[in-house]
Amino acid sequence: MTLHNKYPTAHYRALDAAHHIHPFSDTRSLNAQGARVIVRGEGSFIYDSDGNKILDGMAGLWCCNIGHGRHEIAEAVNKQMLELEYYNTFFKTTHPPAVELAAALAEVSPEGFNRVFFTGSGSEANDTILRMARTYWATLGKPDKKVIIARKNAYHGSTVAGASLGGMKPMHEQGGLPIPGVHHIAQPYWFGEGGDMSPADFGLWAARELEKAIDEIGEDKVAAFIAEPIQGAGGVIIPPETYWPEISRICKSREILLITDEVICGFGRLGSWFGCQHFGVEPDLMPIAKGLSSGYLPIGGVLVSDKVAHVIEETGDFNHGFTYSAHPVCAAAALANLKIIKEEKLVERVRDDIGPYLKARWMQLADHPLIGEVRMTGLVGALELVPAKPSHRRFEGDGKVGMMCRDHSFKNGLVMRAVGDTMIISPPLVLSHEEADLLVATAAKTLDMTLADLKAEGLMG
Ligand SMILES: *Cc1c(COP(=O)(O)O)cnc(C)c1O
Repeated sequence: MTLHNKYPTAHYRALDAAHHIHPFSDTRSLNAQGARVIVRGEGSFIYDSDGNKILDGMAGLWCCNIGHGRHEIAEAVNKQMLELEYYNTFFKTTHPPAVELAAALAEVSPEGFNRVFFTGSGSEANDTILRMARTYWATLGKPDKKVIIARKNAYHGSTVAGASLGGMKPMHEQGGLPIPGVHHIAQPYWFGEGGDMSPADFGLWAARELEKAIDEIGEDKVAAFIAEPIQGAGGVIIPPETYWPEISRICKSREILLITDEVICGFGRLGSWFGCQHFGVEPDLMPIAKGLSSGYLPIGGVLVSDKVAHVIEETGDFNHGFTYSAHPVCAAAALANLKIIKEEKLVERVRDDIGPYLKARWMQLADHPLIGEVRMTGLVGALELVPAKPSHRRFEGDGKVGMMCRDHSFKNGLVMRAVGDTMIISPPLVLSHEEADLLVATAAKTLDMTLADLKAEGLMG
């Protein structure tokens, strides 16, 4: 085993515990246990400081679409760093990476999308969305159209606006969120909340909650509806087939903007450039990040339809922007990333090759005694862990079983993430067939080990 770290694991753990506060973590219990130290990445694998090789079933955090360790990106970044490491785009200036990336995005975007506003992250993209959607209506002489309708258990980031648009209860409970003017409706989570309805009926019901909310709030007060094509952090919630067509119908018949949050679903994840295209819907605004640079450097943005862009032009000054909007080095990384996605036909690969290949194997996990439902679209998938089947009953204990399963998975050499008792994956789009086989075999082994633990504790049945 070759170790790539300069110091032993204990050294990093001690300093990490002493000085580093981790996102979305219980600091005390993490520090007692010690964080796993990741030291290297290559292709679909990461390596830890003890020399373990782990299949990265989450592509980092849904972002590393082209796989880890690509020299093309390192070279593009190095070149840009030496040429122009930073300049802003605020005061009548621009630079080649910003221009080239904006044009490259227009080229891959759906028809009617020709402009982009750059940010440093997906959260900032959603902050931008909130201001842009309201500014759009204000410019059209309808300043009262301010409310953004979003969904429970949605994830739109961790800034104040992002977390407010998101529907994560534990996030709202801290820091006095959500801000006013955001209204949350039901999510299209059939397995968890469908009750006795068929998936098709439930999909229609969940979509019509939007119509109901518009009527209750008043169409003259609603600016927009925002939704992830497939909810990611909420547990890879793939809506029933009836959902998006009905949402689309409602948005077209009402005077509101439709925003598809493409931070996860964009850049090939669903076998299309953007998630909206997979579901055949036509949004007005699309926040992007993650797969935009495959996570190599932080960059996000909002893809703006001509319809909205023309109004924002009428606004005059749009008083919004970030120091790192269109950061040249991040833009260079994103450009090199888009080049790889195009040249290696990763979008088509997910749609026609690795997507169907992994799905066929992943769906076989449905037979496992611990599994209540298996889902996969493109290269995102979920496993619902249940104490008895067939039933939608859940385990007691708020995600304790999911956490057990997650820990087994890591030890077995596969990153799966637990959302409550839902196990989720979102592997790199460069995943090989052999790696897909390994992923499913490791997931199966992990389920067996989790089941054995649960039986020993008398928690099954
Ligand atoms: C991750 C994510 C965000 C937030 O992006 P950050 O870069 O973490 O700020 C927003 N929307 C969705 C759908 C995401 O998955």
